[in-house]
Amino acid sequence: MLVINNGTVVTMDDARSVHFGGHVVIDGDRLTAVGPGSWSAPGATASAEVIDASGMIVMPGLIDLHYHTAVGKGLCDHLPLWESLEEFWYPSIRALDAESAYWAAAASYLESVKNGVTTVNDMYRRLPDLGRAAVDIGIRAVLSNDVALPEHDLDTLADNKDAYDAVHGAGGGRVEVRVGIEWLPLASPQLLRDARALADELGTGIHVHLNESLTEVEDSRRRFGRRPAEVAYDAGLLGPDCVAAHCVWLSDTEIALLRETGTHVSHNPSSNAKLGNGIARIPEMLSAGLNIGLGHDAAESSNTCDLFQVMKFASLVHRAARTDASLQQAPDVLAMATRNGAAALGHETGQLAAGRKADVILVDTRNVMFTPLADRNAAQVYSHLVFAANGSAVDTTIIDGQVVMRGREVLTMDEPTVLREANKALARVTGVIGWGK
Ligand SMILES: [Zn+2]
Repeated sequence: MLVINNGTVVTMDDARSVHFGGHVVIDGDRLTAVGPGSWSAPGATASAEVIDASGMIVMPGLIDLHYHTAVGKGLCDHLPLWESLEEFWYPSIRALDAESAYWAAAASYLESVKNGVTTVNDMYRRLPDLGRAAVDIGIRAVLSNDVALPEHDLDTLADNKDAYDAVHGAGGGRVEVRVGIEWLPLASPQLLRDARALADELGTGIHVHLNESLTEVEDSRRRFGRRPAEVAYDAGLLGPDCVAAHCVWLSDTEIALLRETGTHVSHNPSSNAKLGNGIARIPEMLSAGLNIGLGHDAAESSNTCDLFQVMKFASLVHRAARTDASLQQAPDVLAMATRNGAAALGHETGQLAAGRKADVILVDTRNVMFTPLADRNAAQVYSHLVFAANGSAVDTTIIDGQVVMRGREVLTMDEPTVLREANKALARVTGVIGWGK
């Protein structure tokens, strides 16, 4: 049993309760008590490990709803989406060997854990190697393949089914496998229908890039005579088990189709901004009742897994674009990064409430990011988390009841080894594709 006392407990529960000097109790992989005041039960504390969270915010772990393990970053920061994919991303993921995939995933997950991310929705290749990395570091990972038509030399639905058979349910259920579709420019309506059929057969979900760029929309209209989300709808791909990433260029009709099907959206504003893809119509999507979580996308496209940065972007870009400072207020943005992401994946995480899974982070407020800080002011706590903090304020990361990081030290893997091997992985991959020669 693990008892966390004396923290500012930001529950993100249905009532949005905040308990100053509150407690969180973990037994196994579950939360058994969350509330005000210190927890004490006669006879039980003797065997419990107690964390004194004085000066800390105790909150749900962040959920990165659109994620790619990254083998490289900072290599083609000036290119738009399609060109960056052709120049580096596709060649690099075609060149991955098993060891490179493992260490690239380990380094990516390490960065996420250090930034308070407890769940990643990771579309990449070589899922058994990613699954090993997720099990070793202790992160909760939903994995999907980069499925495309065969001529693109990425993954097939058969690869995705093999990955499901190999690694779904690993790590005590922390690792799941879903069906992935890279994006419509590399797909066909038949491939989308087959992806839906496979997901239904396996009883699992779907992860797809959708309406990310204007070039994608133009490509879809030219090849299929319909916009991307319309094509996905026609093929039956959409649904409450589907996470559609980006959704930057949605028409009103497409927003209605996502709503009708209960499809969840991952909003990735820093990636969209850096690649020059635009700004998603989040106010209209929220008005339509869509569930929206947040993702960093890939280090190749946003250079950091720090979801605190993504939260800030997820507010500021909309305020700037609409000249409206009332948009995307801090508690709602934090909900996107926690409970909305959990809802999108059907997970019992994303909020601190008895009975839910024990994915919890402790954020240290004893630093300049959180100073000045008034006494017992919940609105200011939300504000500092979204607008002032970055991931380096995260002190402790607990996933499925396991303490993965404590005092910023990752306990499950040797950090210097991960960094060294990730550099070697990049060198192997760039050697194969002849990058920089
Ligand atoms: Zn992506």
